[in-house]
Amino acid sequence: MNPENPLTRIVDYLRISITDRCNERCLYCMPEGFSDWKLREEILTYEEILAAAETAVGLGFRKFRVTGGEPLVRKDAEHFVADLIALPGVEQVGLSTNATRLAPIARHLAEAGLRSVNISLDALDPAIYSRITGGKLEQVMAGIDAALEAGIPVVKLNAVLMRGVNEHQIWPLAQFAAEKGLILRFIELMPVSLTEMLDESNFLPAGEAKQIMASHTPMIVDDHHYGNGPAQYFRLPELDSSVGFIGAMTNLHFCEACNKIRLTADGKIRPCLGNHGEFDLKPALRPEINPALLREIFLASLREKPPEHQFRNQYQPGRIMTAIGG
Ligand code: SAM
Ligand code: SF4
Repeated sequence: MNPENPLTRIVDYLRISITDRCNERCLYCMPEGFSDWKLREEILTYEEILAAAETAVGLGFRKFRVTGGEPLVRKDAEHFVADLIALPGVEQVGLSTNATRLAPIARHLAEAGLRSVNISLDALDPAIYSRITGGKLEQVMAGIDAALEAGIPVVKLNAVLMRGVNEHQIWPLAQFAAEKGLILRFIELMPVSLTEMLDESNFLPAGEAKQIMASHTPMIVDDHHYGNGPAQYFRLPELDSSVGFIGAMTNLHFCEACNKIRLTADGKIRPCLGNHGEFDLKPALRPEINPALLREIFLASLREKPPEHQFRNQYQPGRIMTAIGG
C-alpha cells in the first residue's frame, strides 16, 4: 500500500483522462472559442495508458476512474475501459461522463465490469441544461436510463452550483435523483479553468445550496460514504434518498482524506487538481515503455503530493479543466 509514499494517508486512486476534447461546452469548464487542443500525437495511446496503470497497480493503486474532457468522444473508449478493468490487480473502475454518448455502450460497459458511472447533470430544465452545456438534455436522460437498465451498480449525478444559473434546479434535481434512486452531489465551482463563469459573483457556496434544499425538505446528516470522494452527505427522509455537497472551496477539511492523483491525456501525473505540479511520464513511455522509470516517476509524484490545494490562495489555473481531467 504505497509504502514509499510519505503522506500518512493512502493514495490508491488514479483518475485517468483519455482525452482533452469534449462534445459539450460547459460554462464553468470550457472557455468560449477555445481551440488549443492537444495534438493527436501528444495524447497517450491506450497501450501507454495501460502501462501507466500497471505501474500504478504495482504501487498499490486499486481504484481507477476514466474521465476527460468527455471520455466517450474518444474512439474505442469502451474497449479501453474493458481492458483497464481486466488488468490484474485493478479492483474498481468508474467512469465520469456527460452521458450524451452513453446509451449505445452502457450494456457493453456493464458486461465488462464497470462498477460506477458519475454523470454530470446541472439542470433538469432542457433550456437551462442547454444554456449551461450547449448540449441536449434528452441524450443525457437516455444515457442515465441506459446505465440503470444495463445494471451498472453505482450511478451518481453531479451538479455544479452556479448562482443565477441553476440554484432553482437544486430541488428539481433532488426530486429527480430520488425518483430514479440515484445519489446526487452538488459541487462548488472551482477555479480550474479560464472561463468567465469562474467569477466570484457566480459562486454559490455549498452551505447556501444546503439552505435552499432545507427550505424544501428536512435534512439529516448521513454518515454513510457513497464512494471515495470528499462529499458531505445528507438524508432526505421525505424523498427517501441522500444528497451530497462537495465544498472544495468552503470546506477547510476538503483535502484531508484525498486519496487520488490524476493522469492527464498527454501523459502528466498531476498529484493535486489545485496545484500546478506535474510529472511527465512520456520519457518513460516513448520511444519504448520503461517500467522502472515509470515507477520512479510515479513515486516522485506521490512524494510531491501536496497536503492541500491552493484554490483559496489566488490560484490561477495553468491548464483548463479538460486538459487536466476532471
Ligand atoms: N465530461 C465529463 C463530465 O462532464 O462529467 C467528465 C469530465 S468533467 C471535467 C468532470 C467533472 O468536473 C464534472 O462533474 C464537471 O461538472 C466538473 N467540473 C468541470 N469544471 C468545473 C469547475 N470549474 N468547477 C467545479 N467542477 C467542475
Ligand atoms: Fe465537457 Fe465535462 Fe467539461 Fe462539460 S464538464 S465541457 S461535459 S468535459
